[in-house]
Amino acid sequence: MHRSEITVDLGALRRNVRTLLRAADGAELWAVVKANGYGHGMVDAAGAALGAGASGLCVATIPEGLALRNEFRVERILVLGPASSSREVAHARDAVLELAIADEEVPDGVRVHLKLETGMNRYGLSELPAPPADVVGLMTHLATADTDPDFARAQLERFDAMTRAHSHLTRHAANSAATLRLPESHLDLVRCGVAIYGLSPFNADPVEDGLEPVLSWQSFLAQVKQLQSGQSTGYGRRFVAETPTWIGIVPVGYGDGFRRDLTGTEVRVGGESCEVVGTISMDSFAVRLDRELPVGTPVVLLGHGVLAESHARVADTINYELTCGVESGPLRARRTVIDA
Ligand SMILES: *Cc1c(COP(=O)(O)O)cnc(C)c1O
Repeated sequence: MHRSEITVDLGALRRNVRTLLRAADGAELWAVVKANGYGHGMVDAAGAALGAGASGLCVATIPEGLALRNEFRVERILVLGPASSSREVAHARDAVLELAIADEEVPDGVRVHLKLETGMNRYGLSELPAPPADVVGLMTHLATADTDPDFARAQLERFDAMTRAHSHLTRHAANSAATLRLPESHLDLVRCGVAIYGLSPFNADPVEDGLEPVLSWQSFLAQVKQLQSGQSTGYGRRFVAETPTWIGIVPVGYGDGFRRDLTGTEVRVGGESCEVVGTISMDSFAVRLDRELPVGTPVVLLGHGVLAESHARVADTINYELTCGVESGPLRARRTVIDA
């Protein structure tokens, strides 16, 4: 038996893409599938998003773009991050990838999107040069679409002032949060990542934006035991029973992406919420049970009402980082793709 099972629901992903297309109100949607589709599987996510109406794909690196190109021969693929060598650029040219360019040197023979600095102060050109021949797009990235719409609007105004004269080029700025909440950001296309996976860009309940989580992750109780008062479980004795306490051991740990800072979060054991107690090990963690339960009882770590957003609050991070960290390789888990 596998220690845990990861299920990716491409039906949910398609419904999320359609929800975002409705929000985008006429703009194209390009699906962001970098970092192995935020942990969901890059190729599966890309195929489902295209099937639901996405008109292009975005990744962070040229190697990611080349891997996608093997599967998708004609679709437009934009690499958002910088190339790491001229050899990579040559590969990108051969594979007809499009590149986001954030410095003065624009490579020949590659379709490029010039990335403009408007407030993120990460990658970006602070002035728009006369767009060279191979430029097809002008883009910027918003720093605060999820938290500070006023700053995001100021960035959009700066972007508009810099690019207004070039409305024949494809102009784009919106991520998921902006697609959902800032209609003035939609322009010609929106670049949606987190929301296509049914994760809230606001770290709220995704249902508030009509989104459905795509990933679920399930394991089981591998052992059930009663701690006597004064006995502890796990490294460092961080959980000590004050009264006789039933605990279950789940065979998943930080080596699988169930992070060490998730102590205190809730998972569902046989349908009931249970607290994760003690230090999370590499390959297992403990839950507090309110009674003895049979070994083999299912434990839901994500999905079916267990939200990545709730785990993220406990771990003081964002849902993005949690799903990116789920280790779905065959040595640790079984991964199933469904279409529900
Ligand atoms: C990752 C990324 C996105 C997608 O952002 P989400 O918040 O996941 O929708 C969009 N644009 C750029 C430039 C990115 O790097």
